[in-house]
Amino acid sequence: MSALRDLYQQVILDHNRNPKNFRVMQNATGSIEGYNPLCGDHYTIYVRMDGDVIADISFTGAGCAISKASASVMSSMLKGKTLGDAEGMFRDFRGLVTGALASEEEMERLGKLAAFAGVSEFPARVKCASLPWHTLHAALDGTSHAISTE
Ligand code: ZN
Repeated sequence: MSALRDLYQQVILDHNRNPKNFRVMQNATGSIEGYNPLCGDHYTIYVRMDGDVIADISFTGAGCAISKASASVMSSMLKGKTLGDAEGMFRDFRGLVTGALASEEEMERLGKLAAFAGVSEFPARVKCASLPWHTLHAALDGTSHAISTE
């Protein structure tokens, strides 16, 4: 288990150091700011929809390693997915960081997202990991005001 944990930690460190899709999107169809005042995480998530498909996701901003890695993994996993797929992954991720998902099949389905499983042991960090997801969710719902985890 500790080797697995080290591997997960590595995923978070790598994505924090070299975040994917870390850029302003000029032709976004939606963008929204998300804050986590508890930690100081603050990001803008950009999304470009093509019908029902998330054609592109990017983000800018700053925060702790967990929030930045979470935004990076989320953006790379959801690009090209339908809204329905995104909704399912959003639910899976919530289950993961709140400790509700545990079986090996579920972890396998989550792929790189499983790296955030350890977060469930640290309640304050759950908000860091969830912030990008909540922010994207609000953007897909057409919310235009900034959202906050508090
Ligand atoms: Zn944070």
